[in-house]
Amino acid sequence: MANRSPRIAIVTGAARGIGAAVAERLLSDGLSVALIDMDGDALSTTVERLAGLGPALGITADVRDPAAVDAAVARVRDDLGAPTVLVNNAGYIRDNLFHKMTLENWDDIMDVHLRAAFLVTHAVQPYMSEAKSGRIVNISSIAALGNRGQANYSTAKAGIQGFTRTLAIELGRFGVTANAIAPGFIETDMTRSTAARMRVDFDDFKEQVAQQIALGRVGQPSDIAGVVSFLVGPDSSYVTGQVIYAAGNPTV
Ligand code: NAP
Repeated sequence: MANRSPRIAIVTGAARGIGAAVAERLLSDGLSVALIDMDGDALSTTVERLAGLGPALGITADVRDPAAVDAAVARVRDDLGAPTVLVNNAGYIRDNLFHKMTLENWDDIMDVHLRAAFLVTHAVQPYMSEAKSGRIVNISSIAALGNRGQANYSTAKAGIQGFTRTLAIELGRFGVTANAIAPGFIETDMTRSTAARMRVDFDDFKEQVAQQIALGRVGQPSDIAGVVSFLVGPDSSYVTGQVIYAAGNPTV
């Protein structure tokens, strides 16, 4: 019998960084991929770069906005088919020491990591339940374990883990798995901007970080894309509600 693995994937925050690498990997794995991002120009460049790998649809949308999310998911259904793979990846940081952290810093981070993951998952889940098959992968972070200057982000990324486990419990009966990946330091514009904010040269910053990592190097977006590929592929069909730390280090 033919392999009936899910075929239509949505990746949020896919214009660059981890999301772009995930989209590239899923296309190479034979899925059709809708790439959603706020940054339309960067998104077009990425979709153009990946188009040769398979059906890639770029949709410019802010995943914090319910109407934009509903429209984006409807477009995926119309143009590619019913989505049964979802990677909630879009995000940014608004770091500040807690005593300096504003309510705006806090709300911004809850919006992009938790509200957005809720909205997109809510819009996609009916297609998974109907297909009796689905894979949800949420991008958490080692910051979920606590990190200086990231009270907001740490809280949101820990929240993503609770969200993931609960989705696994509720949606398992519909053949849907939900797992999270908690990356460590990955070389992207996000970590580049952290170095810039700290006024440290990015190469020096990476070298300093690498010295604290058992594998002796910082991560690349493809390191995370490989874990997504596993969680979306046939070999992980009995894995659900898990958080996989991909940090080059053991974590507690
Ligand atoms: P990145 O290079 O900054 O890429 C994130 C992408 O998400 C950007 O293209 C961004 O667009 C987009 N985005 C942000 N808010 C959005 C929204 N509301 N709607 C749609 N798209 C939105 O970041 P990254 O390092 O690849 O991070 C990806 C995910 O991994 C994030 O959830 C991050 O928290 C997580 N993570 C990263 C690391 C790391 O070390 N890099 C470690 C652990 C976890 P704009 O550029 O227009 O904002």
